[in-house]
Formats: sequence, C-alpha cells, structure tokens
Amino acid sequence: MFESRLGIAHEKALKLFVDELGWIAADTTEIVRYNQSARHGTGNALAVIRPRTSAEVSKILAYCVNADIQVVPQSGNTGLVLGSVADASRQQLLMSLERLQSIETDTDNRTAVVGAGVRLSALNAALAELELIFPIDVSSDPSIGGMIATNTGGSRLLKYGDVRQHALGLTIVLADAEGTVIQLGRGLRKDNSGIDWKQLFIGSSGVFGIITKAELALTLRPQQQAAVLLVPSGYAVIPELLRAMELQFGDALTAFEGMSKAALERGMGDSPVLKSAFPEGNIPPYVILAEISRSYSQYQGEIDIEQWLTIGLESIFSDAELLADAMFGNYQQLWALRHGLSSGVQSTGYLVPFDLSFKRNKAVQFIEDVEAELMKKHAFSQVTLCHFGHIGDGGVHLNFVIEHAVEEEHQIQISEALKTWVFSKAVEEYQGSFSAEHGVGPVNNKIYQLYTGHKCKLWADGFSELSSANWLGNSKFGRDSEEH
Ligand SMILES: Cc1cc2nc3c(=O)[nH]c(=O)nc-3n(C[C@H](O)[C@H](O)[C@H](O)COP(=O)(O)OP(=O)(O)OC[C@H]3O[C@@H](n4cnc5c(N)ncnc54)[C@H](O)[C@@H]3O)c2cc1C
Repeated sequence: MFESRLGIAHEKALKLFVDELGWIAADTTEIVRYNQSARHGTGNALAVIRPRTSAEVSKILAYCVNADIQVVPQSGNTGLVLGSVADASRQQLLMSLERLQSIETDTDNRTAVVGAGVRLSALNAALAELELIFPIDVSSDPSIGGMIATNTGGSRLLKYGDVRQHALGLTIVLADAEGTVIQLGRGLRKDNSGIDWKQLFIGSSGVFGIITKAELALTLRPQQQAAVLLVPSGYAVIPELLRAMELQFGDALTAFEGMSKAALERGMGDSPVLKSAFPEGNIPPYVILAEISRSYSQYQGEIDIEQWLTIGLESIFSDAELLADAMFGNYQQLWALRHGLSSGVQSTGYLVPFDLSFKRNKAVQFIEDVEAELMKKHAFSQVTLCHFGHIGDGGVHLNFVIEHAVEEEHQIQISEALKTWVFSKAVEEYQGSFSAEHGVGPVNNKIYQLYTGHKCKLWADGFSELSSANWLGNSKFGRDSEEH
C-alpha cells in the first residue's frame, strides 16, 4: 500500500552499524512480533534495527537524524498506547533495544545497572539469589527501557512507588546529529548538587532520547506474604477501609487492588481454579485484593503473617461496618485473578480503555458517577463496564467492552461518546489524570494535546511534531533544537 522510502543506500549504511542479527527486513515473518502492539493492532515498520550497545544506538540515531529517517524505540513492546510500534505508513524505522541485556549488581549499594532490553522477569530472576527485587509489579513483562520511558506504576505502587522512585542513573542517547550519549545520575540515593535532569526522561515516552541503561535502586525481597479478597460494604466506605488497613498493618500493606465483578468474570474465563476463590461461584460486585508482606523471615515467637492478617481483619470487622466479607485463598491464585484482568477484558469485545488516576478519596466517587450517571442513564445495552485498578493509589482502569456483534461504525461512535464523557468528567470535573501510568502515544495523543499541550509549549511542540508515534529522527530536540 505504502512505498517504503528507505532506499538501498540507507539500508546498506544502517546495516553497517549492527551485526548480522541486528537487521530484520520488512517483508519477513520475523518482523511480525515487532509490529504487533499489545492492545491496539499492528504497525508497519520500514525494518527493525537491533543494536547491542549505547555506541551502536548513538551511530544509528545520528545517521537517522541526518538522513531524516524517523525512529521508534521499542523495549518490551507491552505498552498500551501504541507508542512502541511504527505507524502504518512504513516510513518509520523501529529500533528494538531487546539486545541490550547487561545486568551488573552492586549488593552493597543495593543497586543494579541494567540494559534497556532486560525483561522485568529476567532482572528479578537474576536478583533472586541476592534476596533482592526490583519491586514494580505489573500483569505484563516489560523491559527496563520501556519502564523508564513510561514510568511504570503497577500493583504495588502503594508500598514501593513507581519507577521514578527507583531510577538513580540513566544512560541516554539523544536524537541529535551526533547521537550524543549522556550519563545522568551516579547511583546516589541523595544528590542535590544540581538539577536532576534525568527526571525529564522518565515517563516522557521516549520523546527526548533513547534510554540504553538504567541504574536502579533495589529493595529487599519479601520473605513473608499473605493476601485476602475483601468485599467492602459499598464504594463509599473504601477510602475509610484503606485507612483502616494502613493503620492496622502499617507499611506492611503492599497492595490494595480493586476488581469489579464484570472484570473478574472476564479475567477468570473458564478457569475452575480461579472461580474457586468465590464460594459457590458468587462474585460480589466489587472486590479488593489486599496484600501484606514482610521483608524478613518469621522469627521465633512472631505471629505467622497469615494469622496476623486474619487477626487484623477481625479487628477491622468489629470496629466499623466497612467490610461485608473477606475471603482467604491460595496466595498465587489470588494474584492470578488480579493479573488475568487486563487480557481478560481485552479478549471479549471491542475495548475502550481508560487509564485514569484521582486523589485516593475521589477514585471511588468517580466510579460511582460512571455507574449511575453514564451507564444507567444512557442504558448502553451492548456495552459492559469492566473496571479494575490500583484503587489504593487512586488508579482506575476504566474499561468499556462493546460486544463484537455491534457494527464497527457504531462501535466507533459509542467509543467517541464515551471518551468525551469520561475525559471531561475525569480531567475537568475531578481534576484527575488521563494517563496515570501508561504514558502518551498515538492512542491518547489528541487528549494529551487538549489537556496539556496549551500549558507547556515545549511539550506541545514536541508531541505535535512527533505526532502519531514518538519518532525521534529529525526531532525538535535533535538537529533543530537550537531553533527553540
Ligand atoms: C497485560 C498488561 C498489563 C499492564 N499493566 C500495567 C500496570 O499495571 N501498570 C503500568 O504502569 N503499566 C502496565 N502495562 C503497560 C506496560 O506494561 C508498561 O507501560 C511498560 O512499562 C512498558 O514497557 P515496555 O518495555 O513494554 O515498553 P514498550 O512497550 O516497548 O514502549 C513503551 C513506550 O516507551 C518508549 N520506549 C521503549 N523503550 C524505550 C527506550 N529504551 N528509550 C526511550 N523510549 C523507549 C516506546 O517508544 C513507547 O512509547 C500493562 C500492559 C499489559 C499488556
């Protein structure tokens, strides 16, 4: 459909920067997985280039900036806003960072310098014998470069914070005519000797440069963990329930994750094991997965962590009318319920997803408004609201699933109506965020410009110029940056 504009000369020149495994041509089956986005269809890259070092990334970027070739960086390709695949034009070169695979740990400093292509699971596997962990928990398996670029949040943010709070140093290749490599931060936990420039690169979806390495602060691996499903007596009591849990368990409270019945039904699919978490298969309208953990082994005479959870909950049950029920179960299975939600809701219809966040006490009010004002009043008969999220930190993944049977044109109309309602309610009325933890990409670029663009010209220019994918070639922040 589109003519590739990467001529033979450019292809030949770019191939010289990498080894024989570093180039994947457009018309190969190997390219398919690089073009496939986790949620929103497929891209169409000119080719995939796979450097192994920061020096190779630098040469490639410099070449592309000078030759006016657009570049899209990709690490784990689990991003949910279409930022990690090329657009449909076949004009963009996809740079996969997956071969940047180094891990150097410093046990005394409790840090690791990690290549952008290292998967979260691989990092944690390597840290296991040191009894350390990079504690960001998500239902996907992203890589470090993408996690820095999107500032991943996840299910245990309540306890450990986001990626930003663990990033002590970054190696970045700028999209300028020289492909300048910069090192920001030195693995120090405290450093006020100047402006902390690395923050500009964290959570900015790769628009300012390509992250090739990160020095990460690690935490102690939890030695004792217990989880429970809590059934609050209504949405309104959830903020109070959260406070009660925090007072009861202190900073041992590691997760407080909300799951609606509709999301659970889709996430469990036909799995009898997962369904067994609910007596007689009765799923309450809203359930919270709460986890407590300790970073040390149980000492003699100390109460077992599951017993502690039970006793603590008894006290919460007796003190106030916060809880309708609590269900204990197999720890792994309870988390499997939570981690199955994202793919479960995606597979059952045309998905209209929102990644929102609010002040903690406002998140459930917002959900109530959506249910009462939007779903009941408008009576969308072929749309199911499947929400879940990191309710302990104000995060709400609001997903509308439109039945497959609805005609495509009508699906798009419904989707647009939902977007208008949700964004104005969440951002304008509730003063929440339209992108809590998934970053900015083609999926939410328009809304980014609507709500943020006018406030910051630099960012607005950056994103509108970079438009449909966060390409870096010929970037405003590269060759043309002196103009600003
Ligand atoms: C089932 C599922 C559940 C998820 N749950 C969560 C969740 O709970 N919390 C959460 O925060 N996210 C979640 N995500 C989203 C996703 O996993 C995160 O955004 C993740 O951090 C992306 O990392 P990645 O390595 O896959 O990045 P990619 O998808 O490869 O890239 C993401 C963005 O970063 C840019 N980028 C990638 N690598 C680099 C680099 N080296 N330098 C500069 N820019 C780069 C890309 O161009 C793109 O814009 C989920 C995704 C899935 C599929």
